[in-house]
Amino acid sequence: MSIAARPLFAFDNSYVRDLEGLYEPWRGRPVPAARLLALNEQLAAELGVDGDALKGPDGLAVLVGAVAPDGATPVAQAYSGHQFGGFSPRLGDGRALLLGEVLDVRGQRRDLHLKGSGRTPFARGGDGKAAIGPMLREYVIGEAMHALGIPTTRALAVVATGEDVVRETMLPGAVLSRVAASHIRVGTFEYAARQDPALVRRLADHAIARHHPHAAEAENPYLAFFAAVVDVQAALIARWMLVGFIHGVMNTDNMTISGETIDYGPCAFMDAFDPATVFSSIDHAGRYAYANQPYIAQWNLARLGETLLALLDADPDTAIAAATEVLQSFAGRYHEYLGAGMRAKLGLVDGRPEDGALIDDLLALLHAQSVDFTSFFRALSAAARGDVAPAKALFADPAAFDGWCDRWQARLSSQSTDGQTVADAMDRVNPVYIARNHLVEEALTAATGGDLQPFERLVDVLTQPFDERPGLERYAAPAPADFGCYRTFCGT
Ligand code: AMP
Ligand code: MG
Repeated sequence: MSIAARPLFAFDNSYVRDLEGLYEPWRGRPVPAARLLALNEQLAAELGVDGDALKGPDGLAVLVGAVAPDGATPVAQAYSGHQFGGFSPRLGDGRALLLGEVLDVRGQRRDLHLKGSGRTPFARGGDGKAAIGPMLREYVIGEAMHALGIPTTRALAVVATGEDVVRETMLPGAVLSRVAASHIRVGTFEYAARQDPALVRRLADHAIARHHPHAAEAENPYLAFFAAVVDVQAALIARWMLVGFIHGVMNTDNMTISGETIDYGPCAFMDAFDPATVFSSIDHAGRYAYANQPYIAQWNLARLGETLLALLDADPDTAIAAATEVLQSFAGRYHEYLGAGMRAKLGLVDGRPEDGALIDDLLALLHAQSVDFTSFFRALSAAARGDVAPAKALFADPAAFDGWCDRWQARLSSQSTDGQTVADAMDRVNPVYIARNHLVEEALTAATGGDLQPFERLVDVLTQPFDERPGLERYAAPAPADFGCYRTFCGT
């Protein structure tokens, strides 16, 4: 006998309602043996979902895409993308499905999306599958970013499929379920713009209502919308830079309109400070290197602006002038966010003209001496408390650091805030624990081999990145010397 169970998710699917032409209805497929690898209980609670129900066979069938739950309208979303600068008119979800949207316990609309759920009409040559390692990577890095306070999509669960995926070797397959403010990307606008101007307008109206509602009140709502996206992206990239995060594939299909970080493929956190750092094995030219990220973001936003021109003004020249002005505001906005963030990292409670040089000189020093970015800023709190030794010990040539440190301390003592308060505030923005590459690799390798414990431990550590805890020293330390030159591979 079956009793009517409460639906797993209370869906309300505005994308499908509003945006016909930007998706293909599609279904996942059964998998041989669904097995839960990771469930984000805290996120399930935020979504108002019964975690225990998700863990049961019916829940797992939903989380791999085999069964569409009540109220779901699964679709593969259509989008284009500039990939490494070249335009691909038809990318879309080749191995992913938007199940629907859920209003969370705070009333926020969140996409529920699956990745690795099988081939779709956008799959081209791909197999539609995903391996355990990259899906768990997306889980752990997303949680790390979230705990750092950086806007991001988040993993709800990773479920093993019991089937092998053919990559360079055979790998166990998995499906990731993730939550996002939406999956609307710059590439979604690029796709719409190639279809029909009315579709761009519908998409823009939808995105305004969903992500930037204040733009609707502006004299020119579409221009205000463009400015809002420029602003959230400037803020986001600054946040990445402040923790040494390198996304790795900043294609326009991997840049959201909401301002959340999305699609953790060949991403990584920088260890020794070097602006030219690239981790992605496919980024031969270093297009998406650490220091290039703000420029690439602006380049991507230019592609967004192009799709909006017809909405901005009936006169093309006026439209281009208006869009250009907004686009050019990216640099100023970015530097505001970065400067404020850097000052916070250094314990500077206000902004002064000399701060720019203090920051630039520090970064030059960290670069010249290959100092670990994360360790340094955390060690600086100790210096603010009066113990310079931990910071100084990070420099091969400590004399060079002394000169900078004297200037910094003089700057601190000119503030009225006491050292302890300053140091405590620094500790709240300078993490002890980041998703260090060797730790991520260690966890994913173990998980692929069947041992989830290192993964669970790492997620647990990264969930409280600012609180130093005894016994976790190895999670705060840079990679051992024999870890070598780190390369990450695309999340396929
Ligand atoms: P990404 O580089 O992961 O952002 O993906 C770029 C495009 O390739 C998107 O359209 C993906 O849906 C598609 N894609 C990536 N991997 C696969 C796969 N294994 N099967 C089908 N499509 C894929
Ligand atoms: Mg992508």
